[in-house]
Amino acid sequence: MKYETVIGLEVHAQLLTDSKLFCGCRTRFGAGPNTQVCPVCLGMPGVLPVLNAKAMDYALKMALAVNCAVNKKSVFARKNYFYPDLPKGYQISQYSEPLAEKGFIDIENLGSARRIGITRIHMEEDAGKLLHGEGPDEEGASLVDLNRTGVPLIEIVSEPDIRTPDEAVSYLKAIRDILVYLEICDGNMQEGSLRCDANVSIRPAGEKKLGTKIELKNMNSFKFLKDAVVYEIDRQTEAVESGERVIQETRLFDPSAGVTRSMRTKEEAHDYRYFPEPDLLPLIVGEDDIEKARSSMPELPAGKKARFIKEYSIPAYDAGVLTAHRRLADFYESSVRLFGEPKTVSNWVMGELLRLLNEHSKDITDSPVTPEKLAALLKLVKNGDISGKAAKEVFEEMFTTGRDAASIVNEKGMTQISDEGELARAVDEAIGRNPDSVEKYRAGKTKLLGFFVGEVLKATKGRANPGLVAELVKKKLS
Ligand code: ADP
Ligand code: MG
Ligand code: ZN
Repeated sequence: MKYETVIGLEVHAQLLTDSKLFCGCRTRFGAGPNTQVCPVCLGMPGVLPVLNAKAMDYALKMALAVNCAVNKKSVFARKNYFYPDLPKGYQISQYSEPLAEKGFIDIENLGSARRIGITRIHMEEDAGKLLHGEGPDEEGASLVDLNRTGVPLIEIVSEPDIRTPDEAVSYLKAIRDILVYLEICDGNMQEGSLRCDANVSIRPAGEKKLGTKIELKNMNSFKFLKDAVVYEIDRQTEAVESGERVIQETRLFDPSAGVTRSMRTKEEAHDYRYFPEPDLLPLIVGEDDIEKARSSMPELPAGKKARFIKEYSIPAYDAGVLTAHRRLADFYESSVRLFGEPKTVSNWVMGELLRLLNEHSKDITDSPVTPEKLAALLKLVKNGDISGKAAKEVFEEMFTTGRDAASIVNEKGMTQISDEGELARAVDEAIGRNPDSVEKYRAGKTKLLGFFVGEVLKATKGRANPGLVAELVKKKLS
């Protein structure tokens, strides 16, 4: 029997606002424990939450970016449960009336395009953090840090449209790229600014009804997501084939063991007793709010990629790499404006620049080589002032010192020799030094051309223009 996998993802993204969702506390990551708290986010009696307008604006941007319909009216609700990191005893979220619904994104997986539906996007507040086994003296004590309590999140719920582990990863990457492009979330999975629950089920190929799903909680890397889903598919397939039934449950992935383990079954599932938050009015989104969000949205990754392919006639692969980060794409476009050979610029940005940024763990925004400096270097190559090989050396020096190409080239005497008289002398010398090779060449072994060019390059410390040298050698030996 063949089985089909069905996956739906629930993604939590922390919004990059300076203050929390319902109070004025800061949201800075890494601040001292419990230094960013106030009576509102600590859940003191009698306080009143007030919605952060910027968080709403950010949530609207995401809703528009993934083609959702924005609800004119949405309602905050209390999701009740007890946990030490939740001082209020409930989380303010949106339940039956979310901010936005019925969207989609198009993703690319293994070269083919797939459309994944977005069920809903809602706003909610984050809970605090528990630090286990870090008590001052007793082993195994746990500490509570409530700085994260009340930090704004959006939850993006997908339709069960995803079919393979790779597709799940592509979808999550696409969501992260959009969030980061919009500059509403830093996309950092290690720090927990982007978290993902994966719902996984299998069903016999061709079957329309969905199988029983299990939910994998809190995957915090693309690799873990993929590994956990792969493991689940195998586990569920094995269970079904041996006549067992998959039971609906929540499972946790243990990356070190590479397995998922049951956390709670459906019977033990929380009943959150949602009800409308009485301290907040329904959220009414006006046309002007939507327009404001829309008008300040940047071009998104997929659109930018398509435009790069069309406008610069570069391969889809190049366009994909260059548009993976908004600031990298900006760098590329600025460079092309200054040096109008898009493919040459693409090769340098994707090759040398990305390699060095990577090696030095630098972000494109801190690149010591600016578009102006890169363009100036490429002009030197184009004019024949330096060779392509020398240019790579110069580029590396530009990157490590921040200097410009011309000053490095002058200081090191790297200018390429294109003067015909000077080259002719060097060619004559190479011919004079190698009478045997000359004889063989004239006897028909024209492959020796490369040997002569090499001799001249060696004698000029690589500064001779190789194209001109080859022409001269041919002329002199014919
Ligand atoms: P819950 O109420 O348990 O959170 P939902 O129906 O809201 O369940 O769905 C949560 C997520 O699970 C969504 O992303 C949805 O696409 C996905 N999902 C629902 N049913 C299945 C299924 N049978 N197999 C895989 N994913 C599913
Ligand atoms: Mg769920
Ligand atoms: Zn607060």
